[in-house]
Amino acid sequence: MIDNSDFVSFIETYKRKLTELFTQRNNEGHMAAQRGLPPYVLRQIHECSPLSTFIPEEYGGRGAKTYETLSMLEVSSYQSLPLSLMMGINGALFLQPLANYAIEDVKKKIFRDFLVEKNMGGLMITEPDFGSEALKMQTGFSKSGDQYSVSGLKHWAGLTGWADYWLIAAREKVGNGNLGKDIGFFIHDTSNGGIDVVEVFQNLGLYMLPYGRNRIEIEVPETHRLQPKTTGVTMMLDLLHRSRLQFPGMATGFLRRMLDEAVSHCKTRFVGGSSLFNYDQVKERLAHLQSYFTVSSAMSYFTSSNIPMEKDTSRSDLTANSIKSVVTDYMQSAAQSLLQLVGAKGYKLDHIAGRSITDSRPFQIFEGSNDILYQQISESVLKLMRKSSATNLYEFLKGYPHTDKAAGYFKDVLNFSVDYKMAQRKMVEMGQALGRLVSMNMTIELGAKGFNQEMVSNSLVVLQKEIRTILSSYSFDKNADILHDCEENSSWLSILPLPAK
Ligand SMILES: Cc1cc2nc3c(=O)[nH]c(=O)nc-3n(C[C@H](O)[C@H](O)[C@H](O)COP(=O)(O)OP(=O)(O)OC[C@H]3O[C@@H](n4cnc5c(N)ncnc54)[C@H](O)[C@@H]3O)c2cc1C
Repeated sequence: MIDNSDFVSFIETYKRKLTELFTQRNNEGHMAAQRGLPPYVLRQIHECSPLSTFIPEEYGGRGAKTYETLSMLEVSSYQSLPLSLMMGINGALFLQPLANYAIEDVKKKIFRDFLVEKNMGGLMITEPDFGSEALKMQTGFSKSGDQYSVSGLKHWAGLTGWADYWLIAAREKVGNGNLGKDIGFFIHDTSNGGIDVVEVFQNLGLYMLPYGRNRIEIEVPETHRLQPKTTGVTMMLDLLHRSRLQFPGMATGFLRRMLDEAVSHCKTRFVGGSSLFNYDQVKERLAHLQSYFTVSSAMSYFTSSNIPMEKDTSRSDLTANSIKSVVTDYMQSAAQSLLQLVGAKGYKLDHIAGRSITDSRPFQIFEGSNDILYQQISESVLKLMRKSSATNLYEFLKGYPHTDKAAGYFKDVLNFSVDYKMAQRKMVEMGQALGRLVSMNMTIELGAKGFNQEMVSNSLVVLQKEIRTILSSYSFDKNADILHDCEENSSWLSILPLPAK
């Protein structure tokens, strides 16, 4: 049995500090409705060293143990989703890539700066003209002597203007204004200058975090380029998949908070002479909230047990994309349910229900837009099926390790030959069902390990209903079209027979 007392005391101290800062000393809603974070709050959070969970032991950190990082993210997001995202950015988008791909001396210096100086770091991939299509980015680099010059325009990087270090993605300038196919990642110390914040965004939510547009004209020593094991694109996939696999860290605490807020509101709010808690439709919403929390817990369990820091996740597309897209859909859906249950009072800028809708929404967009990830989930499954010469979806899923335990619930609706040439919208729908099947498999595994059995069975009911609804829509074979010109005959008033004067 592992002695966990040190970790328990670390996480309890952190939890107490956040409760004190976010609920006792400050009005939490008020703080969430202000941009940025009071400096003393950030200082006191840093004093608990949450980012040390991402740093390997040999550099003075807590050891980069996945269950520790996920627990820290969970405790953070129970109090504040933006705070958890701030930790996630520092960890998954900066410290972990550094731990896996930077050279020794660079790691030593930067990990020390994080542990002692309480530095922070972020990642710049996205550009104004290239978001989802990141591989076509136009930021370029060239080498002269032992220095790289990197130049371009990046936007929407979390911690814009705040980060002490950036990881900046760029393509090599190969002459005649062309850029190479592979991606390089460069570590930049902002005290060296060269990053100009040309616009600060008025982001709709996540007020704690600064975003904006950055002009990049930097010089980076050759020691500060990440060293891929194969290609830069594979390294980027490893970085993104590892990050997506850790989303349940941020989601579980947030979903638990949505559940707790909803239950406590419904127990104390009386409508029509009865506590809201007693209405059947309210119970349906609460059951969903509890199920989301359970499924997200199953994902945390999965990632903690299967994804140690040193594992190469570049090929973990199916699990990473399923976890990220499903759990972020749940976050948005949970926030919508909480606001519905709280009613008008939730629609205030400083109420947790309203804030949670805007704060959780971009999780469905960043690090892979969910619409695209769902399509990719289907593509991953179709590729695996092709490889094993399978045609029947049910037969394949019941033998596949990430779906084998859940597939049996759906034999009647999955027992068909897949159309490898299906339309994109069908790929997306199938991906939504498959992502939930993978999540259901993880939930069944969580149950087998001893998690609360009633919560697991309730979640399996919710998941079955969701998957069956999606599959029923998938099998509906009529597609609506979109008219490019919808001016003609599209005014109801112009066709209304008006009384003669
Ligand atoms: C709050 C927030 C934080 C962020 N943090 C970071 C960060 O720290 N670092 C960083 O580098 N970036 C960050 N981003 C940027 C984010 O990763 C991009 O917004 C994302 O990759 C999508 O790119 P885009 O916004 O240019 O949208 P686009 O690429 O224009 O896509 C918009 C939409 O078009 C549709 N679409 C696009 N392509 C397809 C397709 N092939 N098939 C079907 N539909 C499609 C999808 O619905 C998609 O959501 C952040 C964004 C936000 C909002």
